[in-house]
Amino acid sequence: MIKKIGVLTSGGDAPGMNAAVSAVIKAAYAKNIEVYIVRDGYKGLVNNWLEKVDINFSQDIISRGGTAIGSARLPEFKEVEVREKAVANLKNAGIEALVVIGGDGSYMGAQRLTEMGINCIGLPGTIDNDIVSSDYTIGFDTALNTVMESIEKIRDTMQSHNRCAVVEVMGNRCGDLALYAGTVTGAEVISTSEGQLSEEEIVNEVARLSKLGKRSVIIVISEKIYDANELAKKIEAASGYVTRATILGHTQRGGTPTAMDRYLAITSAIYAVDQLVAGKGGLYVGLDGQQLIARDINSTLNIPRKDRTQELTTIRLLNSQFKK
Ligand code: ADP
Repeated sequence: MIKKIGVLTSGGDAPGMNAAVSAVIKAAYAKNIEVYIVRDGYKGLVNNWLEKVDINFSQDIISRGGTAIGSARLPEFKEVEVREKAVANLKNAGIEALVVIGGDGSYMGAQRLTEMGINCIGLPGTIDNDIVSSDYTIGFDTALNTVMESIEKIRDTMQSHNRCAVVEVMGNRCGDLALYAGTVTGAEVISTSEGQLSEEEIVNEVARLSKLGKRSVIIVISEKIYDANELAKKIEAASGYVTRATILGHTQRGGTPTAMDRYLAITSAIYAVDQLVAGKGGLYVGLDGQQLIARDINSTLNIPRKDRTQELTTIRLLNSQFKK
């Protein structure tokens, strides 16, 4: 039976990461396993920023946003010599296995470490919901609620002034945040990386709604597709609406994690510790319906994500209806 494990958060932070760290500590403590936190992800592994924590640490962080143990990006971790330093630090401290909370880049690091003798299990921590093996990722629900509240605030003022708003949301090439947010706020136009509308299509649709006399229009777009401010100018010129662009940015990454994000974080962390105790590594945990599953990092990371085109088409159709 393993005696010492480490836990780290890596890549972009996400609300709920702390709840996952907290649950790793509790689950390990219950099995008499010592837990070391690693400050700042793989960077901390390489720099030996390891700290033994006790059960009290887990209570202090469960409800906090961000990641209390820090996250960082370290592109050099792809180099074997750099990872050798990390493995040496872990072995010196007697740490036999790791829980890695992050996205699929972080899983690649976890896979490489497993191949070097340190069993790693990945947990899906990202607001983008872009991890193949999980219906939902830790942080997505909190970010979605933040986006929903922001869009509704923007709608209030657009409706007061008979205006149009372009709202850009995160997602890193995954359209889920835009699709879900557009769905739950009744956005008239939604454009995502997977279901991208041309600028012309957007402009024409807003002009149509303007002619029908719609008082306000909300356009939700995924990041990394358009220049939101330029798009707003084009819409204003063609439709007559005063049009404003809002890039929600990092407000989407922070905040108190929702109950559902914490629940997913805690249950998947308990599951991850069980996997390590069973001597497994090179796996990542995800939610499949109501069921937690562990998939092989190497062979499943590149399988395609769920196609949401049909959902997008349906919502677009429903939300673009308006009667003069
Ligand atoms: P995310 O985990 O959110 O996808 P990144 O893609 O930035 O975020 O990856 C986080 C970190 O994982 C990187 O900074 C790097 O340290 C490590 N990593 C990414 N890809 C690899 C790889 N192919 N081999 C080893 N480590 C990797």
